[in-house]
Amino acid sequence: MTDTDAEVASLALEMIENNLRVGALNISRETVPICRACGHMTGTGGHPCNACGSTDTQERTGLHLVAELAKDRPVLDRSDIHASHRQQPKHLQHTAAHVAQRLILSRTRDHGIDLSPLGLNGFVLDPRAGIHATVLAAARRHQADVAVMTITENAANHIAAHGQHFREHGGTRLQYALHGHLPYDHTASLQPLHDAYRATQEIKDGFAQWFLPIFSLRAKTGTQPNQLPAIFKQYMRAYLAKPAAADEAVLEAVQYSVSAGDTEWITNGQALANVMVARRTALVGRRV
Ligand SMILES: [Zn+2]
Repeated sequence: MTDTDAEVASLALEMIENNLRVGALNISRETVPICRACGHMTGTGGHPCNACGSTDTQERTGLHLVAELAKDRPVLDRSDIHASHRQQPKHLQHTAAHVAQRLILSRTRDHGIDLSPLGLNGFVLDPRAGIHATVLAAARRHQADVAVMTITENAANHIAAHGQHFREHGGTRLQYALHGHLPYDHTASLQPLHDAYRATQEIKDGFAQWFLPIFSLRAKTGTQPNQLPAIFKQYMRAYLAKPAAADEAVLEAVQYSVSAGDTEWITNGQALANVMVARRTALVGRRV
């Protein structure tokens, strides 16, 4: 799903209307810098226009959608982060708080959630707010109470304030789960190991497309290229130790860990081997 889907746009408008009603958002006259050449909104500080590259700006006053940051709670608190107590990113909660008290959420952009139903013709919702509506729309489709958005710490820093009034709707809430960067450009260095293990395409795909993304939830500060061989060996050890049938008690413990934001199971060989069995069973459409 993207913020250009009709389902996402209608959810976003519902959320905006609710927020306008309680005063968390306002529509007010604001003076903002725009590009003199093309009229695109620009930031302050003489950056070139994102649309045309011009550095010539002027100020324009007009109606905008504005978020008032809540005074009674921080931009991010523990309940916004999907992580066990020990893995709470205190640094992020601190840095995300350093934002202006008022944020303009209407943007000039050629795509995104159209704000003309609110009388803001020619504007879309800032994508930093819109991405939250996208995740909540996906959660609604799955009738989930909690949606967990996987995101790097930098990106969370970038969108947390804009998302403050877009993380809960109709009893569904959104949390962030932080993950680290993965060195995908270096996976070719695994070729000798692939050969040594006679890894099939399915095994290689499982590592790159399934295990590495999960591993990045554990390695929140990032994974270095020289760690890849050890991570692949860890994955292969679990793969080769797969039991004939998954142990229900082990799976239950993993499910509990996942829901609590605990990532230790990811480097536990026995847990991983059982999850691989359950995943394989799910992929071929049978119940464990
Ligand atoms: Zn421009």
